[in-house]
Amino acid sequence: MSSAIPSLSSLHALGPAQQPTYPDADAVGAAVTRLRTMPPLVFAGECDELKDKIAAVARGEAFLLQGGDCAETFAGVTADNVRNKLRVLLQMAVVLTYAASVPVVKLGRLAGQYAKPRSSDFETRDGVTLPAYRGDAVNGYDFTEASRVPDPQRLVEVYHASAATLNLVRAFVTGGYADLRQVHTWNTDFVRTSPVGQRYEQVAAEIERALTFMQAIGADPDEFHRVDFHSSHEALVLEYEHALTRIDSRTNLPYDVSGHFLWIGERTRQLDNAHVELLSHIRNPIGVKLGPTTTPDDALALAAKLNPENEPGRLTFITRFGAKKIREGLPHLVEKVTASGIEVAWVCDPMHGNTFEASSGYKTRAFDDVIEEVQGFFDVHRSLGTWPGGLHVELTGDDVTECVGGGEELAEMDLGHRYESVCDPRLNRVQSLELAFLVAEMLRKA
Ligand code: PEP
Ligand code: MN
Repeated sequence: MSSAIPSLSSLHALGPAQQPTYPDADAVGAAVTRLRTMPPLVFAGECDELKDKIAAVARGEAFLLQGGDCAETFAGVTADNVRNKLRVLLQMAVVLTYAASVPVVKLGRLAGQYAKPRSSDFETRDGVTLPAYRGDAVNGYDFTEASRVPDPQRLVEVYHASAATLNLVRAFVTGGYADLRQVHTWNTDFVRTSPVGQRYEQVAAEIERALTFMQAIGADPDEFHRVDFHSSHEALVLEYEHALTRIDSRTNLPYDVSGHFLWIGERTRQLDNAHVELLSHIRNPIGVKLGPTTTPDDALALAAKLNPENEPGRLTFITRFGAKKIREGLPHLVEKVTASGIEVAWVCDPMHGNTFEASSGYKTRAFDDVIEEVQGFFDVHRSLGTWPGGLHVELTGDDVTECVGGGEELAEMDLGHRYESVCDPRLNRVQSLELAFLVAEMLRKA
């Protein structure tokens, strides 16, 4: 593989999908020039460490938990927001680690998840049509003409927002906040104090006994007090990802230092297009979303292009079929990929195939559909003898009302109470913890 990074203009010549139409080319150039001078947000060595961990996922020796907002916002870069998200991910990870009896690789959909692909370029409200909101990386959410104009200066703001988020996350995960005892106490609080949590008393009690045992024998490894946590986002806006692609001084190889793990979305995974091309040149661990129209040959071709040397941990397939399609559609994909000897981590995104519009007009997802897709994912992999490697979820640590169902039985008419997502509906704190405990039960049955 050539290590030369293709030029930005050669990528644009490939006619990439889902790019903003910037009105001012000079302003784009200025923003890209600025970004090229900025220090890396992550380090190549950290990306390599994550790649090794994902290789363990592909071998069936670890489980991946990837989660965060559908779309981060600049206004959401607050200590409370970042901390709550991190806390729920850490809580889920402890439950999953115990149930899976393998390490859980923790990957935030954060510190860079600011750009969104849209099914339509335009949005119409009350007869007024404006450019669609493409994430804070591109334009404003407010439904006014001025706010919806794509502004490249926002890419520089993405950099700063991501730096602030990562800085906080790094401090939290090494500075005592991620202490295992502490995280477990949050879980026992959830189990004791919420009616939904009570169902999971047994697992929580088992974890409690395991921790007490460790303490009794005097075991106090470093891992009890700090965790590894990595960042990820969809590599979508070419200007941003290209400007942050740098040659690593250790290896002379290119890495996209905007995040540890980058993925290609369902709408931009065309083999000859710019996103696949750019990501084929970087050395980070990467993912590709695979929806229900993916043929086994599509998957094989993507693997050949993105991981020609079949490097372990390099490639993750994130399947998002929908609860109704996964049992039918996933087996032949997994079978053919496995038969061809391709090393890949299989991860389930039970969100993006299960979105619907509620009668009130809110975009939502049903908790039961999410669980049903995860169950289908486990069942398919179990029947094929392959490893269900992980979960990719849209969630928040706050008590929002965006997805219906779950133990609190959130109804469609409740959605308006606290619907804050600027894009897809997220599992709230309680729904996320429930998901972790339910998946723990699935893992234990495996
Ligand atoms: C997403 O992850 O927010 C997303 C748009 O997913 P997909 O590309 O799978 O539709
Ligand atoms: Mn989404």
